[in-house]
Amino acid sequence: MCVKDEVKNVVVSMLPRGVSVVGIECEGPTLVIYIKNPSTLMEQSPIIRSIAKTLKKRVVFRAAPEARIDEEAARKAIYEVLGDDIIDRKDGVRFSRRFGEVYVYLSSPLKEREIKKLEKEIFARTGWKPNIESGMPRSKVRLPTHEIYAVRQILHNEGVEEERYRMLHQLGRRIYRDPIMTVNNIQVGVLGAGQEVGRSSILVRTSESTLLLDCGLKPSASSDEFPVGLHLLDLDELDAVIITHAHMDHIACLPYLFKYGYRGPVYMTEPTKYLLYILLSDYVEIARREGRTPPYGLSEVEETIYHTITLDYEDTTDITPDIKLSLYDAGHEIGSSLVHLHIGNGLYNIVYTGDFKYGYTRLLSPANDRFRRLELLIMESTYGGKDDVQPPREESESVLLQTIRATVEKGGKVLIPVFSTGRAQEILYVINQAVRQRLMPKVKVYVDGMVLETLSVHTMFPQYLNREVSEMIYEGVDPFIDDHVVPVDRAKRLEERVEQVMNIVQGEPSVIMAPHGMLNGGPVLDYFAHLAEDPKSSLIFVSYQAENTLGRRILNGEREFVLRTLTLGETKINVAMNVRYIPGFSGHSDRRELMNYVRRVEPRPQKIMLVHGEPSKAISLAVSLELKYHVTTLVPKTGDHIRIYPP
Ligand SMILES: [Zn+2]
Repeated sequence: MCVKDEVKNVVVSMLPRGVSVVGIECEGPTLVIYIKNPSTLMEQSPIIRSIAKTLKKRVVFRAAPEARIDEEAARKAIYEVLGDDIIDRKDGVRFSRRFGEVYVYLSSPLKEREIKKLEKEIFARTGWKPNIESGMPRSKVRLPTHEIYAVRQILHNEGVEEERYRMLHQLGRRIYRDPIMTVNNIQVGVLGAGQEVGRSSILVRTSESTLLLDCGLKPSASSDEFPVGLHLLDLDELDAVIITHAHMDHIACLPYLFKYGYRGPVYMTEPTKYLLYILLSDYVEIARREGRTPPYGLSEVEETIYHTITLDYEDTTDITPDIKLSLYDAGHEIGSSLVHLHIGNGLYNIVYTGDFKYGYTRLLSPANDRFRRLELLIMESTYGGKDDVQPPREESESVLLQTIRATVEKGGKVLIPVFSTGRAQEILYVINQAVRQRLMPKVKVYVDGMVLETLSVHTMFPQYLNREVSEMIYEGVDPFIDDHVVPVDRAKRLEERVEQVMNIVQGEPSVIMAPHGMLNGGPVLDYFAHLAEDPKSSLIFVSYQAENTLGRRILNGEREFVLRTLTLGETKINVAMNVRYIPGFSGHSDRRELMNYVRRVEPRPQKIMLVHGEPSKAISLAVSLELKYHVTTLVPKTGDHIRIYPP
């Protein structure tokens, strides 16, 4: 047994009479308690919560193998409990023998509360521990789900299950052993995003543990840049990687770790896991298509997926003998997290914000600002400059709709570069609501790249969206899509792709949304190359444009470029289209929100380390924070390693 006898004694003493424990195992951070009589336990299910609370650990109850009914009978029982029409026809019901669990995938949305109730019933009747995953609302446009099925396929593969089981047990033994040393030293290494935007990657080291928070790359005109010193990391020493959210500047180098031998856990939320697979597999595919060698292959992306351990917001989880982890809502994109690390039994607490939004957006709630303890806040500073104050959201929305209307009336096209996830869904939502309320004519919206794949993840996890949007989804309405949205399928051959793009750019007035959001490659370039010289058309930026990207150069006033695109090859272009930047849609906190966050966050941290900002912005914010709130600030450079404890 991986835990001491006293833990077993606590569990046994709290269980109702008639429920017998046959074993306790540690699967990674989770204590799995095997029992003989699931139906007796389910009658008193609040006990499960109180056991988890008393032990301060993640706890799962499973039935001993002999207490599970056979698979066919269990499948029948599951269909009886749920009804035929709500179970996904393609994936339906998947048994995981190794773990004694069953996965049930639904074809329409169902509220968390309902799901919990049904799970209890299934467990009591079958002895299989169920995991029910909500489905998508019926949409007027068929959303692509290929990648979503691919993730499930990876996880349900029997070989993968076996390996995952071994990995989790090994990890469990490591997490729950006694610490060898007491924490007398905490160090933070900034491998990326120090006085720059991109390649976020923060190393946290104690005398006992080593963690990596995010592992991204920095897009740049010539070649993408990796975190500094990543290749020097001793991967055997790395205990865990924690991912705040699925944007390439926070995740793109993760499979690279697996390529070089990392086999430990990667913690994140459930939506982030799906988004991460969609984005990274697309990255590999695009690199290949454009004739570049990607830094890793699809097999390393898959390896990453089966080493993920997903957490719900606000759950506290042991991840090493001296560190507990909790994730909180960051309000930046679906599933995005603030990372809270509780080190050395309350000795020192760190919050790393990743990217976060401390304000209103159409889809998400503002970032969490309450923690039990907090000494060091590592905060992003993308919009930390004095003048980085964003206009109110309503104003930005009305400028967007006006620009679309005016361009379409002139007979032009509107090109919006977006990242596959985040702003794209926000913009689709705004346009869709405007069309529904007849504030806008029904203009065609072409959506290219992986935007619709990531949109599927939004409708699968309504509990991660704000109340207004999630209620719509639970009622069976797709808030993002109506019949004016036209998905651009991935063309298999180049000729097909050329034809697709030509039909769209020569067709009737329309809106085109395509990645990459900073015009630094991706399908958007095909459209840009054709539309750039058309003065009737508009190019609208809705997100931050990093230094040295094509988007930033255009915003800086450059107009002549030589572009290499898939459909045109190398071309010289002279930008004559109307270029606009509409601030206010950002998923980042602006200057005011960053200041407010420090004012309101509870408890007030002793130190603030600013990352993910250009030097002038990070420094300007640091000066203002010191003056106003008398906190110590640090503005490290990429490559700096700083001892933060003892101070
Ligand atoms: Zn981000």
